[in-house]
Amino acid sequence: MRNENSAVSIGEAQKIILNSVSPLNCENVSIMKAFNRVLYEDIVSDIMLPPADDSAMDGYAVIADNTHGASKNNPVKLQIIGEIQAGGSHIGKQVSKGTAIRIMTGALVPEGADSIVKIEDTEEKAGYVKIFREAAKHENFRFAGESIKRGGTVLQRGDRLNSADIGILASLNYNAVKVYKRPTVSIISTGDELADIGEEIQFGQIRNVNAYTLYSEVKKCNILPDYLGIAKDTFEDTKEIFLKALKSDVVISTGGVSMGNYDFVKKIYSDLNIEIQFEWVKVKPGRPCTFGKKDNKLIFGLPGNPVSSLTSFIQFVRPALLRLMGARRIKKPVVNAFLEENINKQPGKVHLLRGYFTIKNNDFYVSTTGNQKSSVLRSMSDANCLIIIPENTTKVKAGEKVAIQLIDHDEI
Ligand code: AMP
Ligand code: MG
Repeated sequence: MRNENSAVSIGEAQKIILNSVSPLNCENVSIMKAFNRVLYEDIVSDIMLPPADDSAMDGYAVIADNTHGASKNNPVKLQIIGEIQAGGSHIGKQVSKGTAIRIMTGALVPEGADSIVKIEDTEEKAGYVKIFREAAKHENFRFAGESIKRGGTVLQRGDRLNSADIGILASLNYNAVKVYKRPTVSIISTGDELADIGEEIQFGQIRNVNAYTLYSEVKKCNILPDYLGIAKDTFEDTKEIFLKALKSDVVISTGGVSMGNYDFVKKIYSDLNIEIQFEWVKVKPGRPCTFGKKDNKLIFGLPGNPVSSLTSFIQFVRPALLRLMGARRIKKPVVNAFLEENINKQPGKVHLLRGYFTIKNNDFYVSTTGNQKSSVLRSMSDANCLIIIPENTTKVKAGEKVAIQLIDHDEI
């Protein structure tokens, strides 16, 4: 077991973890179930969209030159020689000098026409249409191939599929798509002091919180974890639950990784031949944090305090889960914000403070959400970002800029 001098920085810890991750294999899923999954294959289009120029408006397909000088008081009158609706055929329909074809949004542009005049700029009567303003060339055109080019890579391996991506797959006639498999994840709580929801509680005991916060975080990664329960603070109990958990690709435990007499997690790592990669991180909260691997399995021993386990999850476990699922983008956005209060701290560790950012006149502002003890989950529940105070900084004054990590992309 290494002492605290072996503590690594957040960045080093992340590197060690990502070096241990080999992305999983793939499976085929229906696009109805592919939202938020990570694409395993590049999607190359074998068609172009739209397949030919089509109209962006309901109106009239015309020759732009024919509308020269048209105005409200002096409209140009064109003879209507046909109509094309969306999905209808434009074959054999041709606009020539002095004529127009009525056209609907999404209908293919007929031969001869080089502009679409929208219906609001016209008036139709007895087979003729009055055009009230000059049309520019290619007005209201949707050009062939402007949405998707034939042979172009539309979506990339490693993309997490959003709703628009799913729509693109539909437009290319994909019924199912190859995505990375999701890891199996087990969650373990440790501690004699813990009572689970609904269990009888003795004075001095507390409810198991971490299993539920972490369960939610794993779900946010689009993975359904297995919660295995609470291990008592004994070697046997902790080992038994870890043995079960090691059937999964990823094990996440909380508590029992510190210096206390009843902290058994690391002893179990060595008993089960889990190779410890680091045990301490230079961060507050979250200093005791163990990461180990065994074969391709990743084993995270997160700290017990409810806030520490959550912030450690965000820094270390989430990126690992995303990378296991093949995601290319795994970094939470960090932006600068004006600090709205004074902050003092000891040097030696990065501090991640729970903060709430707002945006005023396009600038970010941030303040802390209250009591920053790692046991106070309330201030985490109010937070929408983590304020990052660098290792050797001891003081930041109100009005100065700080980096904030956006942990929630929710509405503000
Ligand atoms: P430990 O590292 O096991 O000493 O735990 C550190 C602190 O976190 C202690 O105050 C524990 O009671 C608390 N803690 C550990 N596990 C949990 C949990 N699952 N839910 C809530 N608090 C916990
Ligand atoms: Mg404990």
